[in-house]
Amino acid sequence: MYDYLIVGSGLYGAIFAHEATKRGKKCLVIEKRAHIGGNAYTEQVEGVTVHRYGPHIFHTNDTAVWEYINRFAEFNNYINAPIANYNGEIYNLPFNMNTFYKLWGTHKPEKAMEVIESQRLKTENPQNLEEQALSLVGRDIFEKLIKEYTEKQWGRKCKDLPAFIIKRLPVRFTYNNNYFNDRYQGIPIGGYTQIIEKMLQGSDVRLNTDYFSQNWDDTARKTVYTGPVDEFFAFKYGRLKYRTLRFETEVLDTGNYQGNAIVNYTSAAFPWTRIIEHKHFEYGAQPKTVITKEFSKEFETGDEPYYPVNDEKNNSVAQKYFELAAQRENVIFGGRLGEYKYYDMWQVIKNALEAAEAEFR
Ligand code: FAD
Ligand code: UDP
Repeated sequence: MYDYLIVGSGLYGAIFAHEATKRGKKCLVIEKRAHIGGNAYTEQVEGVTVHRYGPHIFHTNDTAVWEYINRFAEFNNYINAPIANYNGEIYNLPFNMNTFYKLWGTHKPEKAMEVIESQRLKTENPQNLEEQALSLVGRDIFEKLIKEYTEKQWGRKCKDLPAFIIKRLPVRFTYNNNYFNDRYQGIPIGGYTQIIEKMLQGSDVRLNTDYFSQNWDDTARKTVYTGPVDEFFAFKYGRLKYRTLRFETEVLDTGNYQGNAIVNYTSAAFPWTRIIEHKHFEYGAQPKTVITKEFSKEFETGDEPYYPVNDEKNNSVAQKYFELAAQRENVIFGGRLGEYKYYDMWQVIKNALEAAEAEFR
């Protein structure tokens, strides 16, 4: 008999297991994939740390979270500064003075503001993503850097998408290419898998094991569940919507393919949304390089549910599942899928630490 059966070996499950083990509890961690780490998993290919499920850049404003994660790995000083390729024209992201200079030749913030003001859609209440984008940054940026990228990513017209998706995208009138505004940022040198391995020391781990493939009734006193919340309740209120991705990874016989870790392809002429060149996350100088093309795809049963679609309709169905979850005293629901929230890693860490704190108080 274990104290905890932990379903999923992503960051949430691993942190909970670590905190429980530290307090003398016995944990069994089951993982349906063939490896630990969830979506933060990294592996070594040609000496390069490859982010298997999309680029993972650690960033947070929370000092406690930053200090906690730094106990498990040394972080470098990587700053995320993606670029956009629009049919061969290169622009800096997020939208900043470098982008505006390239588009319009404006080198003073006031001039750039004037251009945007002259193109802006004047509306108090944008009804969809297209209106939201046009009112934030005007037509040129919308057409070259937003429209086709967003339509590739979401498989729908910008007019048919909710405005909130684009609110995440920063706009700045400084020459600052740092994508995030957070105080702490970096990549763990050698990748994320070592972090999860250390967290799982002292727990029993079973890979290739699906929670729904057998009965676990007498396994543990309590369960920590980090899989999709709708699946736990056998889709009683219907399936929640997720967005999924397809990754194509290649090893290339060149030292440097694109000169940056992330290049977004913002035109419809390319079927992928972005190309990741993994070595640049760690300033690698290996003779070969590994790149991953990322494609967006409509979710079908059997796909990995990467992103919860937190629109009104799905959030209200999720709420009904949360009410059922609250009645399950012996199950803790956590993580991106268990809570159906578009969390970054720091939020998952914070929530897992809070759950452990509440449990062991
Ligand atoms: P997960 O990592 O999803 O782990 C859940 C685990 O549970 C998985 O391993 C899954 O296989 C397992 N599982 C599910 N169901 C079962 C079952 N029935 N039985 C057994 N096991 C099961 N965050 C950042 O901070 N910065 C970034 O740059 C960033 N980029 C991202 C890019 C992409 C493409 C994606 C998808 C996410 C990104 N994130 C990023 C978010 C980050 O991945 C998550 O916040 C974090 O990994 C979530 O951890 P988790 O433990 O909640 O979930
Ligand atoms: N976006 C865009 N052009 C870009 C990058 C992003 O139009 O080059 C839009 C797109 O609609 C995307 C949203 O901004 O869904 C948020 O992008 P971000 O990369 O911040 O987050 P993601 O959802 O991809 O994790």
